[in-house]
Amino acid sequence: MKKVTVVVPMYYEEEMVNACYQELKKVLNGIKNYDYEMIFINDGSLDKTLPLLTKIANKDKKVKIISFSRNFGHQAAVSAGLKYVTGDAIVIIDADLQDPPKVIPDMLKLWEKGYEVIYGKRKLRKGESFFKLFTAKMYYKILNRLSSVNIPKDTGDFRLVDRKVVDVINSLPEHNLFLRGLFSFVGFKQIEFLYERDKRQAGETKYTLKKMLRLSSDGIIGFSDKPLSFLFTISAIFFIIAFVALVLLFIYPKHYLTFLMICLLNFNTSIIIFCLWLLSLYIRRINDEVRNRPLYIIDKTVNIKES
Ligand code: UDP
Ligand code: MG
Repeated sequence: MKKVTVVVPMYYEEEMVNACYQELKKVLNGIKNYDYEMIFINDGSLDKTLPLLTKIANKDKKVKIISFSRNFGHQAAVSAGLKYVTGDAIVIIDADLQDPPKVIPDMLKLWEKGYEVIYGKRKLRKGESFFKLFTAKMYYKILNRLSSVNIPKDTGDFRLVDRKVVDVINSLPEHNLFLRGLFSFVGFKQIEFLYERDKRQAGETKYTLKKMLRLSSDGIIGFSDKPLSFLFTISAIFFIIAFVALVLLFIYPKHYLTFLMICLLNFNTSIIIFCLWLLSLYIRRINDEVRNRPLYIIDKTVNIKES
């Protein structure tokens, strides 16, 4: 019998644990001829998320738990879940039921037809701020301009993927924390699945602005080298300005050149700092890879056999 694995990252989701489990169970039980498992990742929440999950897992052996030693972030939590899947088709979904589990059977039908990555594309996003919608839109525009892999817009991590694709993702040596980019990068037979994204059912968003910024810079730095080539353009512009200043120096030899010098010096400094900042982003990444630190640290697991 084929098996569906659902991977759910959780960070301070005590209000959602039971509702999420019940809803997933209802949907998964309704799919005929498939076995299933649910993998919940407790991403370092210190509220009742883990105790509630453990209570469920003690009764229901199809529920597995991976609990981190601290908060490592949503992408790390999903990556960890992917390492432990035993199913043939894998669903990645948020705990807040914003991505409706009831569409899983339809995604599964596409999988049966031979598609290997069925990614959720939001046609409507209820209860999201104008700010979030606008920045997300701009972000994907810029990202796709800059990067050679095409990352579909209006998609998050909600998707159903074939085991084969997950195995490839798991085997990648890099520590990348922009999963939707990796899923685009690896290829295979992909198709979009339109759905309406609901409001978060309970609790607050766990994606703070800081986490969001981190995710977006991981996306750009991880999937594009173009920011580095901007350095060349910027320095060329700087060179031209310097040249013009030099010409002006001969044409107007009076004292307002002092102002020109001040202006140039400031400009110069800001450009150098900007370039250094850009370089530092890449260096930080190289550093991360070289250090080879784990993406996450597991504190304990429930219903999972280490292999
Ligand atoms: N999440 C996580 N670790 C974090 C932040 C979020 O595991 O550091 C989980 C969270 O519990 C939820 C999912 O990631 O299941 C998406 O988070 P959220 O719904 O808060 O993000 P939003 O939908 O607002 O972008
Ligand atoms: Mg959400």
